[in-house]
Amino acid sequence: MSDILVIGSLNMDLVTVTNRMPTVGETIIGKRFDQIPGGKGANQAAAMARLNGNVTMIGRVGEDLFGKALIESLKKDGVNVNFIKEDKKLSTGIATITVDGDGNNSIIVIPGANYGVDKDDIDENINLFNKSKIVLSQLEIPIDTVEYCLKIAKENGNYTILNPAPAKVLSYNLIKNIDLLTPNETELEIISGMKINNFDDVIKASKLLIDKGVKELIVTLGSEGSLYINKDIEKKFNAYKVDAVDTTAAGDSFNGGIVVSVIEGKSMDEAIDFASKVGALTVMKEGAQSSLPYRDEIDNFKE
Ligand code: ADP
Repeated sequence: MSDILVIGSLNMDLVTVTNRMPTVGETIIGKRFDQIPGGKGANQAAAMARLNGNVTMIGRVGEDLFGKALIESLKKDGVNVNFIKEDKKLSTGIATITVDGDGNNSIIVIPGANYGVDKDDIDENINLFNKSKIVLSQLEIPIDTVEYCLKIAKENGNYTILNPAPAKVLSYNLIKNIDLLTPNETELEIISGMKINNFDDVIKASKLLIDKGVKELIVTLGSEGSLYINKDIEKKFNAYKVDAVDTTAAGDSFNGGIVVSVIEGKSMDEAIDFASKVGALTVMKEGAQSSLPYRDEIDNFKE
């Protein structure tokens, strides 16, 4: 029995730290290299397991060392990895990330096996939907698979959450099966097709999506906090004030915080407060899964 089912991506982040970015054709000596488990699906699964959530993940890696390392890392965090497949043809997803001395980064993602996740991965694991309460996905796997997955989830009575990252235009067939949508501001702009210049625009764009059939939204606004909105209520939540060193995975851990709180029967207000603490603690550390906090850190958190 698992409360939470995640269908999503796993990537190995290959992070090079350098004083400055090389120009085209130039070779330079960098400062440091790290391999950090990432991918939004895996980040969110790991975040929830560290918060004591009972999590199972569906996804794909390649038949290679990165894939084995990613699975091992999730397993260590307590995620049920038995349904993550090794794709016979595609290599494990990677992100090559270069960070310069000013903290600017440039990133190339090769989705690899993540783009191999298909309907079969859902059909083969249909019993997992029956056993779960919440199904959570993102858009780093094919959108058709996400659409099918949320349809199956709703047929099984699951509460469905889509973290629409990276943002794409969402079809009605997808929207109608989303209970909670959790875009950040940029993603909201792309999904709603509306330019966002201020907080009023965030509300307008969210309402546009509610009119299209989304039931509830939490829009994350970085250090500005977040907005909860449904057809009757709109409520702004402040972020906790912390010294941010790297905002990677803030949205992933925030989503994880929401899901774990909802599973524990907390109100949406309590869930957002909990998730805001999780997000704040995440930006205080570097990297993706390396920055995800553990439950006791949230319970002991003071601004
Ligand atoms: P994403 O990583 O998807 O862009 P956000 O940057 O909006 O997501 O962050 C998600 C949540 O994490 C925010 O709503 C906020 O609660 C928290 N958060 C993000 N950045 C900061 C920050 N600099 N200080 C405090 N909390 C933050």
